[in-house]
Amino acid sequence: MQVPLQSNGRSGGRRELMAHSSQEVVGLACRPGSTVIWPFGAIEQHGPHLPLGTDALFAERLLERVLLQLPAEAPIWRMPLHCLGFSPEHLGFPGSLSLPAELLIGLVVAVGRQLAEAGFQRLVLFNAHGGQIALLQVAARQLRVEAPSMAVLPCFVWSGPAGLAELIPEPERSHGLHAGLAETSLMLHLAPELVGELPPPDGQLGGVPPPGWSLEGAAPTAWLTRDLSATGVIGDPSAATAVLGDALAERLVHGWTALLQGLLASPWPQRG
Ligand SMILES: [Zn+2]
Repeated sequence: MQVPLQSNGRSGGRRELMAHSSQEVVGLACRPGSTVIWPFGAIEQHGPHLPLGTDALFAERLLERVLLQLPAEAPIWRMPLHCLGFSPEHLGFPGSLSLPAELLIGLVVAVGRQLAEAGFQRLVLFNAHGGQIALLQVAARQLRVEAPSMAVLPCFVWSGPAGLAELIPEPERSHGLHAGLAETSLMLHLAPELVGELPPPDGQLGGVPPPGWSLEGAAPTAWLTRDLSATGVIGDPSAATAVLGDALAERLVHGWTALLQGLLASPWPQRG
C-alpha cells in the first residue's frame, strides 16, 4: 500500500483525515462548518499518449494545491483519493477499469453516512472524471436524504472555476471531450514525464449526433468512445503545451480555492 500520509508537510499532513486520531476527530467534526473533501478519479484509457490514471492524477494534484491555498485553521480535511470510477464508455480499451454504478453510489452513500454520524457538516466530492458527474450527483442526493444534517456537494473539477473556456479555442472547446487539448496540456504541466508522443488528429470522428443533438449538453447522447474514435482520443491534443497547462492549472486552483473559501465562510446548509 502506498503510504498516504505526507511526511514533508507539503500539503500539511494534518489536512489528511487519516492523520488524526479517533479522539481528535471528535473535536474536528464539531468545529463550525466542518468539511471533508474526497477526491475522485478514474482508471481509463486516455489515448496513446496519456496514462490511465490521468483523471486521478488531476484530482489529487489539484486538490493538493488548493488545500495549500487555504488558511491552516480552515475546518477542512481530505479523504484519500478514490481512483476507481465509473468508466464503461471506455471498456474495450486495454487497462480501462470500471466499477458498477450501484457499487460506486453505495460506496459514497455508506461512507458519507458514516462521516455524517461522526459529526461532519459537509462533504465535497472533488471529481475529475466527466463520465461520473451524473452518478455522483445521484449518490449525493441519495446521501443527503439518508443523512440530512450533512451538506453534500458533488463537484466536477473542470466546471465551476471561471475563465477556463476562453483558454481553449473552438472546435476543441466544444468537441475536445477526452485526452484532447485541455487534458493533455494540463498533464504536460503537472506530470510531463507521463506524457507520450502527441498523436496526430484522429480523423476517425465519424460519429456525428443527429441534428440538434450533441455529445454532451442540452440534448445529449450516451456515447461510447468507440462511436467516436479509434485511438481513444476525443478531440485534438496536437497543439497541447505546458504553458497552456500552467494557465489552466492556475485558473482551476484559483477557482476551487475561491469556491471552497465561499463554502467554508457560509452557513450552508441552513438549519431549521
Ligand atoms: Zn480525463
